[in-house]
Amino acid sequence: MGHLLEISNLKISTPRGKNLVPLLDKVSLNVPKGQCLGIVGESGCGKSITATSLLQQLPYPLRVTEGTTAFDSFQHGKVDLLTLPSKKMRNIRGREIAMIFQEPMTSLDPIFTIQQQMFEALQFHFPRMSHKEMLDKCLSMLVKVNIPRPEQTLSSYPHQLSGGQLQRIMIAIALMNDPRLLIADEPTTALDVTIQMQILDLMNELKESNDAAVLMITHDLGVIAETSQHVAVFYAGHIVEEAPVMELFHHPQHPYTKGLLKSISSLSGDSNLLYAIPGIVPPGGSWDAHCRFAARCEYASEKCLKDVPALTEVASGHLCRCFLHRQEVEA
Ligand code: SF4
Repeated sequence: MGHLLEISNLKISTPRGKNLVPLLDKVSLNVPKGQCLGIVGESGCGKSITATSLLQQLPYPLRVTEGTTAFDSFQHGKVDLLTLPSKKMRNIRGREIAMIFQEPMTSLDPIFTIQQQMFEALQFHFPRMSHKEMLDKCLSMLVKVNIPRPEQTLSSYPHQLSGGQLQRIMIAIALMNDPRLLIADEPTTALDVTIQMQILDLMNELKESNDAAVLMITHDLGVIAETSQHVAVFYAGHIVEEAPVMELFHHPQHPYTKGLLKSISSLSGDSNLLYAIPGIVPPGGSWDAHCRFAARCEYASEKCLKDVPALTEVASGHLCRCFLHRQEVEA
């Protein structure tokens, strides 16, 4: 199975005075066709800027300072999304690659009805679609994402709907054109658990039905377990662990991944206390030339404070950025 998207050595920086401060540091990832790649990590690890850079929508003044991508576009062949001329990018954005953003209130325009906004998303890529075809498509998408009274919803303005409804409408808009790659940035945060499961099922359907792929960005390992075949753990702007999803859940190698897993498993464990990894993620610009997790790591040694560990293979298809070996890390 080929890769729909390959990302090589992606580096994103922000200017600070006369310098460029890295926020994402040489990230390489592959998204295979028909699969879901999960990206997990705390806020500020570089997950969302990785996604927005792929659509050339990085917030100002962030910029890509290194790296390439190869996206298998059915309209334009293999293209580098980072340098694609804006006309071609507009053809791809929303048609071949769709993104569900974290915050639906800021993604929908408050002065237009839901119908106007859904029609616009269709018309841009399918200008010959009739009014009836568009209406049928919009209604069927709203039903798919479990919006009650879809006709009434189409004539509503965003402020008349709840956060959960708006998030489902954003998901309907993203899926409407059958994208080949769906980038989902915390897509289910605003939803209650039953709706969350239906939405995750919809995403699974998308990749199974037309060889599409999903890039799932989340801090929620439960969402990763439901959707992803492969997972990359981000920490302080780079990947610290990458593995097939079951391998990562059963044999985590990096102390950070272990901490993330412990923070969910403690709910079902002996203790009633929720585990939290002590400390915070160091922000971009404050990364010293040593392991970025050292200040929070219970295994940190002198070596960890002198060198940056490389991402190395610790088992077949399983990469980890830590000086410790598997046997030494396991508790
Ligand atoms: Fe901890 Fe050292 Fe591994 Fe970093 S390299 S995660 S400090 S043990």
